[in-house]
Amino acid sequence: MKSEFVTSATNKDQWPQTSLPEVVVVGRSNVGKSSFINALTQRKKLAYVGNTPGKTRLINFFTIDEKWMLVDVPGYGYAKMSKQMLLKMGTMMDEYFTQREQIAGVISLVDARHEPTHDDLDMIDTLKQLQIPIVVVATKIDKVPKTKRVKAIKVISQKLQLPMATVYPVSSVEKTGFELVYRAIQDWIR
Ligand code: GDP
Repeated sequence: MKSEFVTSATNKDQWPQTSLPEVVVVGRSNVGKSSFINALTQRKKLAYVGNTPGKTRLINFFTIDEKWMLVDVPGYGYAKMSKQMLLKMGTMMDEYFTQREQIAGVISLVDARHEPTHDDLDMIDTLKQLQIPIVVVATKIDKVPKTKRVKAIKVISQKLQLPMATVYPVSSVEKTGFELVYRAIQDWIR
């Protein structure tokens, strides 16, 4: 997989002028988004891991195999953010999700160990309203004991009111679970 950073944007005029389909990755700060993107693209540092949570406040665009774009949007739910910054980021995200025409699907990351948060629910509800295809990735599944994994996925799917078959357990540390994610992406971009 050939991945290349294209640009960062805060608003519409900075979005890259291409018509490639875009797969967007969203999730709470610290959910493991950078690790997920790096494992997915098999790059060590495409997305920067270990950032101060929420420090990445821009929409980052990457081309993958010159066929599609992976879009990394800022992690939400970062408690230490000012009201003003929250508003600004909200506007930036709204603009992107409502106006970017080539969004093919969204990979929504949630922590496999916990019930989805209020912020996770808000995000999913927005995407559902916009009729954007969603796949949920439950991150850090290696931290859930094997016997409790099915139950964890069930809880997440019920809380988000999405079919269990669209919730994929993944470990970016053990590099497991990515096959199904690739398959979902392939379905979206072809
Ligand atoms: P981001 O803020 O969402 O980009 O999260 P990071 O990718 O920086 O990860 C946050 C923390 O979770 C880091 O300490 C990672 O090492 C850890 N982490 C990320 N993915 C996994 C995973 O699949 N398994 C385990 N055990 N830890 C992970």
